[in-house]
Amino acid sequence: MHRMLATSRREMAVAVPLRRDDGSIAVYEGFRVQHNFSRGPAKGGLRFSTAVDLDEVRALAMWMTWKCALVDVPYGGAKGGVAIEPREHSLGELERVTRRYTSEILPIIGPDMDIPAPDIGTDERTMAWIMDTYSASKGHTVPGVVTGKPIALGGSLGRASATSRGVAHVALLAMASRGSTLRGHRPPSRGSARWAATPLASCRRRASRWSPCPMSTGPSSMSEASTSRASRPTSTPRDPCADSSVPTSLDRDALLTLDVDVLVPAALEGVITEDNAAQVRASIVVEGANGPTTQAADEILTDRDVLVVPDILANAGGVIVSYFEWVQSNQAYQWRESEVNDRLAERMTNAWHAVVEHAGAHRITYREAATALAVRRVIEAHDLRGLYP
Ligand code: GLU
Repeated sequence: MHRMLATSRREMAVAVPLRRDDGSIAVYEGFRVQHNFSRGPAKGGLRFSTAVDLDEVRALAMWMTWKCALVDVPYGGAKGGVAIEPREHSLGELERVTRRYTSEILPIIGPDMDIPAPDIGTDERTMAWIMDTYSASKGHTVPGVVTGKPIALGGSLGRASATSRGVAHVALLAMASRGSTLRGHRPPSRGSARWAATPLASCRRRASRWSPCPMSTGPSSMSEASTSRASRPTSTPRDPCADSSVPTSLDRDALLTLDVDVLVPAALEGVITEDNAAQVRASIVVEGANGPTTQAADEILTDRDVLVVPDILANAGGVIVSYFEWVQSNQAYQWRESEVNDRLAERMTNAWHAVVEHAGAHRITYREAATALAVRRVIEAHDLRGLYP
């Protein structure tokens, strides 16, 4: 079983030639890896990044299998990628790359086979091009072939903010569970205090923004790499919000070691390493990204009693609402946004409690518990289906 689950069911590597705007031709590497189908069609994002290679896509595909199983959506796991820097290309070039990549992987995707979605470097526009290319080849519109589509094409209300919303849900649950360590403040849990967590600093790829005052409110603002604080200590000697000498930007790595309650690494893998894990001052790390903590760093954080909410739980909001979108697309029916958000909250909360319970019962970390629950569900499905032939 270990060998089975350690091996992707299908891996496709394709060349993606692009006619550039200046007439020259470039060729990029593209991949689609389908790790598992035991619980349903493969599902996972498409990444445009120069860091993409087969090994990265393989790892991300396997993470999708566990993520989908953990939050109990009826999917296996997949991931795709093209080794391209999207910011160095015009819209026309990106469209041509997307359409050519789609036509290369077309035989292995489909609403019942493998359903791509946005990931780093891709967005709803990319999904619209994939859907159109796929539909053109089939001769009819097939909205269920991708999720994360524009609303006008059958995208789900609430999909764009779903990952951040899910991160906020588990961050608040984690804070509630660690209530007493949060600087003596009562953890926000219900009512108006519910979205009291406000990002203190955030970082995009090239610039970091730091604010000693709450930057904005609401779960949808907890995106990208951000750190948040439940509430401000009342004993601050001066009001930093009024202090113009307080810097508004800082080194990206310094963000990880700010004096905050919750740290949310939310973009790339491998940012918390053995070199900086000992300096992380947050008591809770919520993994908005896939694999932001290296194994060595994970051990350091666990030894220091930092609560790490693992990626396959923390960032599952995106694929949960992708599932809702797929259901809506297949039924040609749109749910209300409140319906989407309520069902998302319910699934995140159920998964959180299952992980906490399993971790407590077996005295293991939340990451181990989440992985064990997910692997067990995949094995159960595999065993029930049996090995063919
Ligand atoms: N790319 C997202 C992830 O890593 C979403 C995948 C999806 O919605 O299928 O979870």
